[in-house]
Amino acid sequence: MNWITHLISDFLDLLYPPVCFHCGMRTEPGQFLCKSCQSELAFLEGELCPVCGTPLHLGICDTCAGSQFVFDKAVSIFSFNPVCQSLIHHLKYKDMVGVGRYLGAKAAEYCKERNPFSAIDLVAPIPLHPVRLRHRGFNQAGVIARAFARQMKLSYMPHLVVRARYTQTQTKLNRVQRQKNVSQAFRVKKPHLVQGRTILIMDDVFTTGATANSVAKALLNQGAERVYVLTIARA
Ligand SMILES: [Zn+2]
Ligand SMILES: [Zn+2]
Repeated sequence: MNWITHLISDFLDLLYPPVCFHCGMRTEPGQFLCKSCQSELAFLEGELCPVCGTPLHLGICDTCAGSQFVFDKAVSIFSFNPVCQSLIHHLKYKDMVGVGRYLGAKAAEYCKERNPFSAIDLVAPIPLHPVRLRHRGFNQAGVIARAFARQMKLSYMPHLVVRARYTQTQTKLNRVQRQKNVSQAFRVKKPHLVQGRTILIMDDVFTTGATANSVAKALLNQGAERVYVLTIARA
């Protein structure tokens, strides 16, 4: 930065002092969270399900018990705690694309530290339906996945998987309804690119895993060797 950009940036900080996206306290310039909220954004620890990454209760995974996952492994880097919720909310509903890049970089930091997946060939986001994409203007999963792939030096394909038909919003449905809603909802655009490859699909939040599972099914049906799922948070 040259002195004039410094000056403008200092002036903007004076006019609009940077505040924490979660608690509203003053933050350091360029930070989305204050120190205290940052400390609550710690990588998920404890005994996690080796298949879907859910924290286990007495050695049992409640998420896997009610589902038949076809992906090889799903990992979430954070729990969906209030701080993480605030960040994802700012990304999705306040167009704070920078937050998506920050979360993508965090996912890369997690993978470099813990190495949860073996050799990945391609990174792709879970696609947003065109109607919602037009409304929001960007796919939040894509922002995260692009930043992640860049940091990890992996190939990124934003349109590898597309929505085959409209799926109604998932939030008001139970687990069985969700699975039905998303079955056959995805299509692989260039099947020859996935044959024999290991694909990592990314999203912001893993809830029941139904959406990720449906994308994984589409990829495996087209000959993908392995499908991994990486999400920022686990609801
Ligand atoms: Zn804060
Ligand atoms: Zn599980």
